[in-house]
Amino acid sequence: MINLNVGGIDISAEKKQIKNMYIRVIPPDGKVRITAPMSATEDAIRMFAVSRIAWIKKQRQKFVEQPRQTERRYVTGESYFLWGKRYRLDVAYSSVRNDVSISGQKIVLQVRKDSTPQQRANVMDEWYREVLKDAISPVFEKCERLVGVKANEWQVKNMRTKWGTCNIQARRIWLNLQLAKKTPECLEYVIIHELVHLLEKNHNDVFKGYMDRFYPNWRTVKANLNDQMLDHMEE
Ligand SMILES: [Zn+2]
Repeated sequence: MINLNVGGIDISAEKKQIKNMYIRVIPPDGKVRITAPMSATEDAIRMFAVSRIAWIKKQRQKFVEQPRQTERRYVTGESYFLWGKRYRLDVAYSSVRNDVSISGQKIVLQVRKDSTPQQRANVMDEWYREVLKDAISPVFEKCERLVGVKANEWQVKNMRTKWGTCNIQARRIWLNLQLAKKTPECLEYVIIHELVHLLEKNHNDVFKGYMDRFYPNWRTVKANLNDQMLDHMEE
């Protein structure tokens, strides 16, 4: 383990049998870790860290802001995202039924006046789930044709650290509910990524070759997606 300090930020680096250097900012306290090829010199690692310093600071800032995000109260004026677009929440009260709808630049959440933030969160999540499921069906079929494989099943799950998972034996793909909040190409990218696992289990060069073939823009979309959330997509 090599310990560096770059611009006042402590960074630990580790060497492994890999080809390319990569960097991670780890929640919840924003520790910075670099994994480098065995051949990388300390200078090379330092230069790499320097080149990513703006990105590191941005990631750490997100961790600072994170607690505020979890303290959502589901009241009028808060911001919520749908397909990468920001909407202002408008809460309307109804004792008859719960509902969520889009009205111009607003998401209108209709709930009982005495509903708790958790109950409101459930109503919103159910809505995100429906919206995402509707969007997935056609995209999933398109991606299956593109990759030339078929999954047995897909499901939407609210996952904390992963955008998607693929159970290769069961040919079952789970997609993160949070994808409804991201731009549509993120959904397409994650579906293709998980379908490619039906051809190649590991994130190796063969896997990347398939990604280049089926979704040439994947590196950009992946970077954007990881920029939008705390953790990198690991699966
Ligand atoms: Zn994967």
